[in-house]
Amino acid sequence: MEILKIDHLGIAVNSIGDGKNFWSDILGLRFEGSETVETQKVTTAFFPVGDSEVELLESTSPDGPVAKFIEKKGPGFQHVAFRVANIDAALKELKEKGIQLIDEQPRIGAGGARIAFLHPKATGGVLVELCER
Ligand code: ZN
Repeated sequence: MEILKIDHLGIAVNSIGDGKNFWSDILGLRFEGSETVETQKVTTAFFPVGDSEVELLESTSPDGPVAKFIEKKGPGFQHVAFRVANIDAALKELKEKGIQLIDEQPRIGAGGARIAFLHPKATGGVLVELCER
């Protein structure tokens, strides 16, 4: 599998408005706008950092995955996303290596990227996202 770079770091927040206070007003990162991904019950906001980005994640529903994450662990770092050259090949390779996947097939995430999550049980506790843009 060819990993090109860290695409973004996903951070779970109770509110993107509050998150912006720190990430944009204090750190000075540029706010690139927000986008709601209904299928994931999440609103995301991206802040470019060099060649990567910080992604804030706010749940749109109490039963969404981000709401459940915050309920269990509190707000904070949620996932790391690696950009891969070919997500289909990467998932096939991981499956062959016996890695437990949350998404067996890529789905469409924020910004129209093709994304898939690996199960934290298979990664030493880190939620890993692969993305292809
Ligand atoms: Zn992400």
